[in-house]
Amino acid sequence: MCRHLAWLGAPRSVASLVLDPPCGLAHQSYAPRRQKRGVVNADGWGVGFYPADDPAPRRWRSARPLWGDASFASVSPALSSGAVLAAVRSATVGMPIDEAAAAPFTDGRWLLSHNGRVERAVLPRESDAESICDSALLAAHVFHRGAGNVVDTLRAVAHDDPDAYLSVLLTDGTRVLGVTWGDELSYLVEPDGVVVASEPWDDDPRWVDVPDHHSIEVTPAGVTVTDLET
Ligand code: GLN
Repeated sequence: MCRHLAWLGAPRSVASLVLDPPCGLAHQSYAPRRQKRGVVNADGWGVGFYPADDPAPRRWRSARPLWGDASFASVSPALSSGAVLAAVRSATVGMPIDEAAAAPFTDGRWLLSHNGRVERAVLPRESDAESICDSALLAAHVFHRGAGNVVDTLRAVAHDDPDAYLSVLLTDGTRVLGVTWGDELSYLVEPDGVVVASEPWDDDPRWVDVPDHHSIEVTPAGVTVTDLET
């Protein structure tokens, strides 16, 4: 299982979201606190963000551990955005370990990170998938079905692979969508925005847990959590 995080709000530096929190993604890359499967997340990382007044996301991904990336540590305090999606990766056995297999994936507008595993045989081989990694194939499938239909798409995938773990985070720069399917999320409402993450980045008591089999939508109007079982 990987660890991932999304931010929607006023612009913050990428470093303040990814590297600085005491138990944030950088810390989770070697010492996650709530990870159920996997011990470290050292098989790469990625961050995508939307520059001001630009609907096209920019990405920085790597096949190496986040904790050792001195160049990213140097540059990321100077990158800022109001919509950021980032992940650190623990590769599923048999999946390629290269930059193209690291989340977030994109169709040029949306960003998607997958926390889990899925049998590749149940997914269409979309020609524009960024990698043969299961998560890249799932992302391409979600993009083709329409990101707004992500819950229905995941339900259909889970029908075909009942053992799949399908937790995802998505953003198009204007909203964040999340689904818990085998792993939970937590969110924190701050005065200047909302962060949604696999696990809290600190011990602030205001973090709210999103249980398994729920969806979460964050817009400038607020946070909506929906139970997918009802
Ligand atoms: N299956 C995906 C991969 O191999 C995601 C793994 C994960 O969530 N740990 O990258």
